[in-house]
Amino acid sequence: MNFELNLTQEELEKRTHKDYLVTKKMLDVDSSEFAALKDGDKGALSYLVKAARIIEKINMQLDSHHNLGFKKYLEDEIKKGNKKAQLTKILFDAQKGIFALDCESNLVVLARGLELKKGRGLYPDDLEISEFHDILIKMLKENKALEVKKILNQRSVVERKGSELVAIDFVDKFKEDFKQVAKYLLKASCLSTNVDFNEYLRLQADAFLEADPIKDAYADKKWATLQDTPLEFTITRENYTDEMTETVLENAELKALLDKNNIDVISKDYLGARVGIVNKEGTDYILKVKDFLPLMAMNMPYNSEYEQVISDENEISQTMVDVDLIEVAGDVGAFRAGITLAENLPNNDKLSLTIGGGRRNVYHRQIRFVTSDDAKQKIQERLDNILEKSLHKYYDDKMDHPFTIGHENGHSLGPKEGCEALGKYKSIIEENKADMVALSMLDKLSEAGLYSQAEKEKIIVTYATDNMLKSKPTLSQAHRVRSVMQNYYFLQKGAIEISKDGFLTVHIEKMVDTAYEMLSEIVKIQMNGDFEAGEKYVLDNFIWTDEMEVIAQKLRKISKRLNGKTEQKLADKLFEEEID
Ligand SMILES: [Zn+2]
Repeated sequence: MNFELNLTQEELEKRTHKDYLVTKKMLDVDSSEFAALKDGDKGALSYLVKAARIIEKINMQLDSHHNLGFKKYLEDEIKKGNKKAQLTKILFDAQKGIFALDCESNLVVLARGLELKKGRGLYPDDLEISEFHDILIKMLKENKALEVKKILNQRSVVERKGSELVAIDFVDKFKEDFKQVAKYLLKASCLSTNVDFNEYLRLQADAFLEADPIKDAYADKKWATLQDTPLEFTITRENYTDEMTETVLENAELKALLDKNNIDVISKDYLGARVGIVNKEGTDYILKVKDFLPLMAMNMPYNSEYEQVISDENEISQTMVDVDLIEVAGDVGAFRAGITLAENLPNNDKLSLTIGGGRRNVYHRQIRFVTSDDAKQKIQERLDNILEKSLHKYYDDKMDHPFTIGHENGHSLGPKEGCEALGKYKSIIEENKADMVALSMLDKLSEAGLYSQAEKEKIIVTYATDNMLKSKPTLSQAHRVRSVMQNYYFLQKGAIEISKDGFLTVHIEKMVDTAYEMLSEIVKIQMNGDFEAGEKYVLDNFIWTDEMEVIAQKLRKISKRLNGKTEQKLADKLFEEEID
């Protein structure tokens, strides 16, 4: 297929300039973390990086039918000396695909004439929502419930078959690539020095050789137990991006037929791979919170009315590690307005949680670090422009980390049933819940000794300041929509105030109670699993006010940043290494 570059030379130069495209640096070739590893672990990493890059290639195909073709086109044009292609490739590598929203919620399209489809690479390019629904209704009326169930499943790609649709498990769809990934994982498992890690790698390899979800569940279950391993490797499977599958819940006739046939609707996964080295000191800090998880669970609203995700009679089945990153490939490494700071997996839709598997939280050191003087200066400039002067002493960018820890643990608390029914609002509500857990537990956690009073105050003010956005997000940006909802809610409740000229005041003493109030409302919605109630809650609170816009305008002036990219010099070197 022939492509045309979409952005002008001027636009490309701007968007690839360092002020507009920030760089997050993964471990470098001479890092002490890598040097400290045993030879076997160093060798294993070389295979894990190779495996991660194949996962990235697979994910590009899930993301768009045109990504691989466009990538090839860019590479060919660069060989011919095409300067625009060279700059476009920088953006393509950063956002890991043709389409991405930037920090100001503009859709960036790198190939001219291509349109972003709701079905991404997961559904036929020409399938519109109405036809999608009509076909499913017809198939259900013809008693093809089993086929429909496969179509509305997280691990399939959907194609046309005559006048119908057919689902193909992605392990079958990308068979050769997954076979290669499995081969690399097995090779890594022969070299790495940790027995448990190697067992996980073998289980994950096995899950890539046969399209059987229970095999993924075995791998996930083992992965979630990994606490004391030198290396980190994760296959990330999350379904924030698929906006097509969940539309079926909005069609009353189809929804009724799905209910009648007991078909759960599960959005489709994007795939990523993370390679890194576990950081002992950082992990010890994160693990401190583990002792407090039962206290947090006890203080969840309506906690007697649902089963806690991490509830376990004897032990909290959750591990946590802080990781020095070598490579973030595929979904987990895509810079699309932002990039993931931490992940708590597997998500609730995964089979491993039903066979006694727990969860594992992984925190990304190289993503959270603010290192350059330039970035530190920007933080000060931001405070000077948007935060009431008397509150500056409470702002501490390092306090974002304990908030993130509260957020990730928040995902492990609350109801696990009912959330899927919230359709396109599911992720927004879940992300909102995680934030409100982080905030609303602060009094209890500081009383119990996890945080000092001063730390608590800093966490609150830092959260509120960082929650101010540069632009109104679109409804598809779950992580940002929830920030707007919180700002609106907290403004209504008088926990925060924004002056006419755009200065934020945080009433520290009201924040925790307000968060608990919001958390209670959210948990109720998740428990009830009622689409309309979820929709109403989001729309009632997703209100971009004039004062938010005043702050946003100031933020846009201070930070030109439109997106970011990752740099992974050690991974690039390991990728080239030939070992046998
Ligand atoms: Zn989250």
